[in-house]
Amino acid sequence: MVLPNPSFASVGIVGAGTMGQGIAQIVAQAGVPVRIYDKIPGRAQEAAKQASAGIERQVQKGRLSERDALAAHKCLIPAESLQDLATSALVIEAAVENMSVKQQIFRDLCDITPGVLASNTSSLSITALAAASGAPERTLGMHFFNPVPAMRLVEVVRHDDLDERVLRQVLGFVGELGKEATLCQDTPGFVVNRVARPFYGEALRMLGERLVEPADLDQALRDGGFPMGPCELMDLIGLDVNLHVTEAMFQAYYGEPRYRPHPLQARMVAAGRLGRKTGRGFYDYEQS
Ligand code: NAD
Repeated sequence: MVLPNPSFASVGIVGAGTMGQGIAQIVAQAGVPVRIYDKIPGRAQEAAKQASAGIERQVQKGRLSERDALAAHKCLIPAESLQDLATSALVIEAAVENMSVKQQIFRDLCDITPGVLASNTSSLSITALAAASGAPERTLGMHFFNPVPAMRLVEVVRHDDLDERVLRQVLGFVGELGKEATLCQDTPGFVVNRVARPFYGEALRMLGERLVEPADLDQALRDGGFPMGPCELMDLIGLDVNLHVTEAMFQAYYGEPRYRPHPLQARMVAAGRLGRKTGRGFYDYEQS
């Protein structure tokens, strides 16, 4: 559905990985031009290609008209540099879950664009990112979920120095994208990850104690009514992303045992078993 008068006329994305690509797809589907930047050359082009493939899947499922799809493809614009995002009315950062990397991005963005700045961080302090930006009144959290085209929820994260008009504009845009916004205060993990961390943590402890195999654990949870088990979900998210989020929350809550990372996670990351994106995690995707 192409928006006639979107709350933001153009969007920029920083970080063209799993999330950046998914966010770019849904913004383009709304008919809003989206510039995609990644520090790794070629990755923005690859993300635009993947987002285009996602748009085509929506057409095949009958959720998007051929006409809207054509408009959406044209909205996907790979960018060569962060500077190319200067005219974006809203920039959504979806780079690696690392505070100093993200703070540097926000410092740079503040000088480049007068637009609204949002982070897709799962666990890091929005207050700290807003302070680093130098423009806290127009910096906030927009936490999308994976896979972005399928997941309705977006946590919109506020902090003390945020301009209420910016907040309202972002809440409006989330609705225009066909998503459901939940307004959260800036606390580590916001709402969903606060609940989700112990879900992964307990699963990892059981696997570490060899109580159960990943496939049996996932099956048990699916039979219990969960849409996915913890191992297949960690493979979808990325073991590295999941570990970064767990470490950040463990630190932010001063070593709260419920959020303690597990050595099995760290070992899998060290081995490059990151899940779907590297072809191997708890499951082997190269054989399937
Ligand atoms: P990813 O590893 O798939 O992609 C991150 C991308 O950011 C990479 O392409 C990398 O090259 C790029 N990048 C790193 N530093 C950069 C910089 N300085 N400038 C520009 N690009 C840079 O990660 P992801 O899974 O897409 O996660 C991105 C963010 O979204 C993280 O903050 C993560 O916590 C959050 N998030 C992830 C999920 C998930 O399920 N994967 C869900 C919700 C939120």
